[in-house]
Amino acid sequence: MDIFQKCYDYTLVSDAKARDAYPYFIPLEESEGTEAWYHGKHLIMCGSNNYLGLTTHPKVRAAAIAAIEKYGTSCSGSRFLNGTLALHEQLEHELAEWIGKPAAICFTTGMLTNLGTVSSLAGRGDYIILDKDDHASIVDGTRLSMGGKMARYNHNDMAHLEQVLAELPEKAGKLVIADGLFSMEGDLAPVPEMAVICKKFGARLMIDDAHGMGVMGNGHGTVAHFDATDDVDLIMATFSKAFASLGGVVAGDADVISYIKHNARALIFSASIPPANAAAALEALHIIRDEEPDLPSRVIAIAKFMRDELRGLGFDLGKSETPVVPIIIGDRDKTFAFWKKLMDMGVFVNPVFSPAVPAGRELLRTSYMATHTQAQLDFVLNAYKTVGKALGVI
Ligand code: PMP
Repeated sequence: MDIFQKCYDYTLVSDAKARDAYPYFIPLEESEGTEAWYHGKHLIMCGSNNYLGLTTHPKVRAAAIAAIEKYGTSCSGSRFLNGTLALHEQLEHELAEWIGKPAAICFTTGMLTNLGTVSSLAGRGDYIILDKDDHASIVDGTRLSMGGKMARYNHNDMAHLEQVLAELPEKAGKLVIADGLFSMEGDLAPVPEMAVICKKFGARLMIDDAHGMGVMGNGHGTVAHFDATDDVDLIMATFSKAFASLGGVVAGDADVISYIKHNARALIFSASIPPANAAAALEALHIIRDEEPDLPSRVIAIAKFMRDELRGLGFDLGKSETPVVPIIIGDRDKTFAFWKKLMDMGVFVNPVFSPAVPAGRELLRTSYMATHTQAQLDFVLNAYKTVGKALGVI
């Protein structure tokens, strides 16, 4: 059997394209924060993780350009060998302080941060306990570990987490991991309750705050939002969202970070964050910390306005309480039709189908930025209302 046969038999994409029903890999010709262009058409962007709108901030752009001028375009090697710049260490130092932990280590992407962190910590006889809605990178990090086992609990179900922990061997090493801000439905993990349960069972707790860092807790993240920094052992974040760049970080006790740093294959065997990206993330941090500390509260207020308006119109937004605002439609065809009509009207959102969400919970993932203008928000609200009524969603 030819190993490529499955590729030649894979007609899902060509079938969808033939039906003009393919919503992925949309090549934007231009993208300027809250606006983008596709096939020459102007779109309002409500499908990005650029929560603070910093990707186009003049100082972030300038920092990235200056880093290229100073260091060139690549570090051409791993952090472990030739790829560490003083800039990476400065970023780690300032992020550890911002997050509220003694130490931090940066990886080249958020995905690699979770792959490297989880796989290096989980050894034979250890258990990694995951929320069923956790990001794929956490699941895959567990799979890559040398003998670590995976257990899962129902989404945000603390009674179930307790039950799962109670069934594990008492003496086994245990690490519970949850997204802080769940990326599809915009709800938060109940971090304080998780910390209490973890203590009861001698488990360590890690929060992946890819979407909450820079947004929740005045920018310090979801764990800080719950005032639980001392009760969470590891806090992870990415730079590809509020920090307007590419890269990831995990922060915690110095010994734990040092162990990860010297054992995570995703760090040691991959080239380091390029200078421009390290500098952009650092500048984004400086802007949030020193220059525009009201940016996180601005996106929180914009998101609240949108949730109030959308709920007022009769849309089902689930338990969203953040700038990630799902419009839950619960039907694949209707979700696709809604997405397509919005594109035609000039609004970019993300259609989300099973398996990214359970079947019957298909949704449009909408998300907001601190830089959205009132005119843009009014425009998209009118589009949601028009299409929602036309399709019988509201
Ligand atoms: N964790 C979560 C919760 C995420 O949503 C993502 C990306 N969507 C990642 C990790 C991976 O981050 P990155 O895209 O920066 O690799």
